[in-house]
Amino acid sequence: MSHPDPIDLTNLAQEKLGRKKTQRVLDHCRECPRCADQLLEAAREQPLTTERPVLGMWNWISIGLLVVSVLAVVAILWWVARSASRPPSPGIEQSQVGASRLPSPLDDRQRT
Ligand SMILES: [Zn+2]
Repeated sequence: MSHPDPIDLTNLAQEKLGRKKTQRVLDHCRECPRCADQLLEAAREQPLTTERPVLGMWNWISIGLLVVSVLAVVAILWWVARSASRPPSPGIEQSQVGASRLPSPLDDRQRT
């Protein structure tokens, strides 16, 4: 029985092996405890920061960016809707409008 290359076991542990080769090595490991042990060891030796967590990290970053961009769009839409219905800087302009209206309250009554 020919044992698979230890490099293949390592690659399989890193999930870098092709599907066919992976299947072959796994089939072999099912009947060869020694290689199964090697494979397990190779998998254990893989620092978990090589493949999956990096992908996971990028996934999280892309999800975060997506959420941030959605929030930004919502905030912009909300701001646009708000500034469209009201003067852009309510603090100053409303007080000015209020001040100009205050001396003539009758105008409002006449208008309505
Ligand atoms: Zn073997």
